[in-house]
This record gives sequence, C-alpha cells and structure tokens, in this order.
Amino acid sequence: MSQALSGLGVSPGIAIGEPVVHETRPISTLRITIPTAMVEAEVERFRAAVAATIEHIGENRDRAAAQMGEEYAAIFEAHQLIASDPSFTGPVERVIREQEVNAGWAIDQVLEPLISRFESLPDEYLADRKLDVLDVATQIHHELHGPDLVQLGNLDHPVILVADDLPPSTAVQLPLDKMLGFALEMGGPTSHTTIIARALGIPVIVGARGVCEQAQHSRRIAIDAFEGKIILDPNPAELSEYESRQREYEEHQSGLLQMRGLPTVTRDGRSVELHANIELAAEVEQALHWNVSGVGLYRSEFLYMRMSPALPTVDDHLETYRDMVSKMGSAPVTIRTFDLGGRKLAREIIGADTEANPVLGLRGIRLCFSRPEFFRTQLRAILQVAGEFPLGRVRILFPLISGIEEFRIARLLVREIIADLEKENLPVHRNVPLGAMVEVPSSAIMARDLARDVDFISIGTNDLIQYSLAVDRSNNLVADLYKPAHPAVLRLISEVISAGQTEGVDVSLCGEMAADPLMVPVLVGLGLEKFSMNPHAVPVVRALIRQLSYREATSIARHALKLATARDVEEYLLEQLAFLLAKTKIHV
Ligand code: PEP
Ligand code: MG
Repeated sequence: MSQALSGLGVSPGIAIGEPVVHETRPISTLRITIPTAMVEAEVERFRAAVAATIEHIGENRDRAAAQMGEEYAAIFEAHQLIASDPSFTGPVERVIREQEVNAGWAIDQVLEPLISRFESLPDEYLADRKLDVLDVATQIHHELHGPDLVQLGNLDHPVILVADDLPPSTAVQLPLDKMLGFALEMGGPTSHTTIIARALGIPVIVGARGVCEQAQHSRRIAIDAFEGKIILDPNPAELSEYESRQREYEEHQSGLLQMRGLPTVTRDGRSVELHANIELAAEVEQALHWNVSGVGLYRSEFLYMRMSPALPTVDDHLETYRDMVSKMGSAPVTIRTFDLGGRKLAREIIGADTEANPVLGLRGIRLCFSRPEFFRTQLRAILQVAGEFPLGRVRILFPLISGIEEFRIARLLVREIIADLEKENLPVHRNVPLGAMVEVPSSAIMARDLARDVDFISIGTNDLIQYSLAVDRSNNLVADLYKPAHPAVLRLISEVISAGQTEGVDVSLCGEMAADPLMVPVLVGLGLEKFSMNPHAVPVVRALIRQLSYREATSIARHALKLATARDVEEYLLEQLAFLLAKTKIHV
C-alpha cells in the first residue's frame, strides 16, 4: 500500500524513481514495524548490509597493509570476524523476524547487552574490544542507511536522493545528472542547495520529516514538488497520475520555449533585462538557451566547493572565467568574489574553527579580507580575464557588504592588483565596473551613500530577508516566517532602487525573489529594470512581464508599499497575479 508524506515544494517539478537515502546526522535508530510480508526482505537487507560491510573492511585492510604494513591489517581482519559472527548476526535476524521490526532497531537490541557484557569484563584490554564491536555495528548501520558520497559518485542510473540534510558543499559533489529529485528533511526555499537544484531543473521538497526512515523501505517514490507531496511505493493509479502530470509539465516547459526570442518588454513598452544566476559551468548553456541579457551573478564560491578538498589553482580561475565570458558572447558577466562561510563551507579557506552563528560570522567579504592571499589570487585572475575582453564584459561584485568602508577596502585591493598587472605589461582595464551586493539591512539603509561610491548595486534578497526578519533562510523550523512580501523588505528594496535612480547607478536584483511570479509585478512597479535569476525561471518571468503594463505595475507597487503586514501584501499580490494569469496560459 502506498504511503504519503508532506513537505514544502521549493523547486518545481515531479520526479518518480528509486530512492537512495543519505543521512548525515549521527545515526539514531527508530523502531519501525515491518509488514509481515516484508519481513524476509528486511532480513535480506540486513544480510546485504553485512556483506557490503565485510567487503569494505577488506578494502580498508588492503589499504592499511599497503600503507602501514601487514601487522596493522590484523585489526581489520578482527572486524571482519565480528561482522560475520553468527552469534551476532543470528540474534539480529531473530529479532527482525520475531518482533517484525527494522534491521537498524534489531541491531541496537542485540548490541546493548553485548556491550554491557564487554564493559563488565575485568580485563581492560578485553573491555575495550567493545569499541571494535561498536565500530562494526556503525558501519552496518551506515550500509543500511544508504551509500556515502563516494558510492553516490559511482551511480549508474538516475535516483531520487532522500536525505536529512544536504548542504551545498555536499550537493555540488553529487553526480547531478543522475539526480531525479531531492526529498529532504531540512532546507528552505532559498537555501543554496535549493538554488542549485532549481537551476538544474531538479524538483525538491524540503521539511519532509521522517522521510529518511520511511523511504528506507520503499522501492520507488514519487515526489510532487508543486504540492509538496511524497508518495512512497505509489500504486498503479497514483503512478499513472504522476506520470501524466509530469508529461503535462514538460509540455508546458517546451511551450514556453517558443517565447525564447521575444523581447522582455511590458505591454506599454518598458524594457526589462533578464540575467542569469550561475553556480555551475553547465548552467551557462541554460542561460544561453533562454536568451538572457547576461550573467547577473556568478557565485564563484561554487568553484571552491566543487574543488574541495583541493583549492582552485590560478589556472582553474582563469579557465573558468575565460570560458564563461567567451561563451556569453557580447553579454556582460558579473563575477561575485567568493561568498564562502555561513552554510557554504570550504574548510581549506575557512579553517577548522567552528562558529556559534556562522551566518553572522566570517562570511562573504569579511572572509575575503581575512584570507587576503586567496582573495588576491581570485581578484588577479578576474582582472586578468577582464583585460582580455572589451571593458564592461566583466564586472566584479563584492558579497555581504555591510558598510561603505568594506567596499572601499575591496576597491583599494583591486587598484593595487591592477597596478601589479600593469607593471607586468598585461592588458588591463583600470575601470572594471565594481559593485556591491546589498543584502544586509545596513547597506540598504545607506544605499544613497553607497551608490555614490559603487559602479553598480545588486540586491541580494535571499540574505536581505534573512537579516532583516531575523529568519535563518536554511532553517525549515522558521520557514513560515521567511516572508519576501514583508512590508519591511519591500520598503528596503524600494529605497535601494530609488537610491540607484537618484545617483544614476545601475541596480539589479539577484535573490530568488526576482524569479517569484508573485513578486515580479511589484518589483517592476518599484522601478527595477534588471532581474537576475536561475535560467529555468526566465521564460515564466518573461511571459509575465509581457502581460504586465508598467502603469499598472507602478500602481500595484504604490498600493503594496502602504500595506502593514506580510499577509496583506501577499493577499493583494496574489489577487493581482491571478488577474494577470487569467489572461495567459502560464503555469506558475
Ligand atoms: C542573496 O543573498 O540574495 C544572493 C543572491 O546571494 P546568495 O543567495 O548566494 O547568498
Ligand atoms: Mg547572499
């Protein structure tokens, strides 16, 4: 019989496939009752996990023998004996059969008295052998709970990844072409894993509590990221319903393709530029496919995360930037310097220190300044590539600017490096456009002053919302408080756009809000002329803007700015969107 779980759909689409469970938290086993008909399959699953454990221990044994000598291999042989010992495996199988429970639970039941027996031994050496038993049991648990990343790298068929948490540093190391969808217990609509998945068209559900435990026993699952629903072992009727909805969505997407060549202009003639947010090189193709006006945000930190544990070399930097800029033809590319820290970790740069509040800690420009050797290497590579192309093709954007002085320090560094390049007779532009991300409320409030120093501004609403509403963007426990339509957020954005207009500085918006159909009319109405978003979102936003009149949009914005609560703004914008959609065939 099928079973359903719910969560929050954050990257659209429907996926059907075999689930692969990957858990990162320390394994704590829950007791799950197994239907009588499935008990023997559970015993088999346990046996397969034991066999795989013995095999892995054998591989470790060989490695240890080669690196340290045969005498060190003995410990692994002892572990193999523990894993295959019938006085351990026999009782586990008995518990599974007699109590009709999951293998993980059964292991813990057998382990408990065994460990107590070891602990009561008077000989300290023998008592310590409990650690070996625990180590083996943990490895069997890991086998039961799913493959590690290395094994996932060897996948030969597409799967749906089910995980408790999937930080972006892990996500970028997955074989993303084999990922049909993600069903996650944690995460949020603007977490970076969600952003990458959306960019690649991978459907994602977050906040699906219990999905790891439940999916262990499923052969197939369907995820519906429109409704935030996960169906475990769908029955034939459900399967055919999801397959047909999947086809319908694909047809809708290819229908949008026909609008690819049309300009993004409102009904009354106001032009809006749509740019792409890029994390991985593969997305450049998508950006070109959807005919964007440029790359509005290249999140260069993904270069570091992909290379981890190694660091990108100077050549890696040069090749990546050169390749992207030349592929984009005459369109500008905005390269953001590495915005690591927070949830985007690259241990090699950040170091081993842990922070109590990493999102308020050493991230973005602060981290760039605290590791000047890495920052300089990157800036030098960007400036070198910029010099190889006409002025304006490469723009440099600094993340998490919280005050003008940070921007000025970054600019000083850029000038120093330009001077160095000139001394080396390399071609450079002295006035490569330099911009600031406005994603901290202090910068939004100081936007007028900031605008006098910078060449351009990019509003990062993902963080601006997080910091102005004090809501961790990756924490599903407070996901309902994360409100792009909050009046405080709208007013901050409005201030920044006006500051840009007054000072004649180019302003774009590159947070996920730029791709949110609910927010597009109000943003156009606030005077925003440049949107940057994941390339998959471009066709829907383009279609919406083509239905909009700028005059209507300004009146929507004026009205929304007067409202006092997020709910009032949401309801109002929903009404306006429904009105617009009624005139189109767009699915949002
Ligand atoms: C943002 O904060 O809106 C932004 C675009 O940057 P990131 O999502 O990479 O933090
Ligand atoms: Mg940000």
